[in-house]
Amino acid sequence: MSTHTKASILIGDGLADRPVADLDGRTPLEAADTPYLDRVAAEGECGQMDPIAPGIRAGSDTSHLAILGYDPFEVYTGRGPFEALGIGMDIERGDICFRCNFATVEGDLALSADGQFTGATVVDRRAQRIAKGTDQLVEAVNGITLEDVTCYVKQSVEHRAALVLRGPGLGAAVSDVDPHDANAPPHGAEGEDEASQKTARIVNQLVLRSWEAFKDHPVNRQRVSEGKLPANILMPRGAGVAPHLTPFSERYGVPGACVVETGLIAGIGRYLKMTVPQVPGATGGADTDEAALARAVLEMLADHDFVLCNLKAPDLGGHDSDPRTKMAAAQKFDNLVRDVLESAPDDLHLAITADHCTPINFGDHTGDTVPIAIRGPNVRPDSVRSFGERAVVAGGLVRIRGFDIMPILTNLMGVQEKYGA
Ligand code: ZN
Ligand code: ZN
Repeated sequence: MSTHTKASILIGDGLADRPVADLDGRTPLEAADTPYLDRVAAEGECGQMDPIAPGIRAGSDTSHLAILGYDPFEVYTGRGPFEALGIGMDIERGDICFRCNFATVEGDLALSADGQFTGATVVDRRAQRIAKGTDQLVEAVNGITLEDVTCYVKQSVEHRAALVLRGPGLGAAVSDVDPHDANAPPHGAEGEDEASQKTARIVNQLVLRSWEAFKDHPVNRQRVSEGKLPANILMPRGAGVAPHLTPFSERYGVPGACVVETGLIAGIGRYLKMTVPQVPGATGGADTDEAALARAVLEMLADHDFVLCNLKAPDLGGHDSDPRTKMAAAQKFDNLVRDVLESAPDDLHLAITADHCTPINFGDHTGDTVPIAIRGPNVRPDSVRSFGERAVVAGGLVRIRGFDIMPILTNLMGVQEKYGA
């Protein structure tokens, strides 16, 4: 038999939580009215999921890599590559990528022959969170060539930017230029091995060039005239090499799409050569248009066998330590699931889960399990009747890792090659 079914996984970002006293000891997901999440749980098979591994606090990037079947312990080399992908930079396998800050230094920066910065001190690591003009600053350094290496720089939000180095013989074992503290000079980057020493040399030259290009730049003259600190240097950190990731369609033999709201996850999707549509109305905020996300999922399902969708809103409530916002976001997630359920083909395998826990009481990601439920024609339903962190404990999936989802879904879909004879 060669027919196969399609699958979609809908992810409430940071949706899982811990008991909240203000909610009588329930989690926001348990307290929220989510009839469609409960329906998927009741009609499907449920369990707990460790996004990475038990107790590991997952980032959204590492978790989504794992959920898509790419082992983050193997492919995640630092935030640099994913930061660059997240702001829409094109990166290629082997590129060395950094996160950067626009910062303020005081003094006359010089680079010594042994690669140390002298003469200047960091006054503000974020240049007072500069909000405007960074696009003009990057123009002064983007695309320059140092030795045989091309340097690409792109601004992100506020004082943030990413740097991508492309050229032969580069390594990623490079220390940060950012001293992570004011009142210190920028650190000369140092490399652990010969290839990384080349990277360090290029990075240090680029930092010096940024200072030369930025110090009298019109954007900074304007800032100084307004009594603001100039953003007169670029300070890279978090070096990572762009990993080799087999494109999704090659890996699984079916085309996939990512319907997401954040640049970080969109960047992962693009890097895996999945379709990543623009979704007007998907703001990534608490006010996002989840109906637009649902429509995009359904559109993508027309010509893709697999669609991942991430709704960012629940994570925001967790980071803000606001149970009501998080309950409202859980209800938005319920609306998203309703819209997909109501119009999806009958034979769709639909998984619902979270990419990590973002507890109200912690305000950041933790390593607790998240609930997962999968509904569809080839699923063996269990006795779980509602979708919550504790309700799913009785489910047939028991306890899986994020990395297990794709094998489970491709098995249900009927697209997986047999392992063995
Ligand atoms: Zn997340
Ligand atoms: Zn988060």
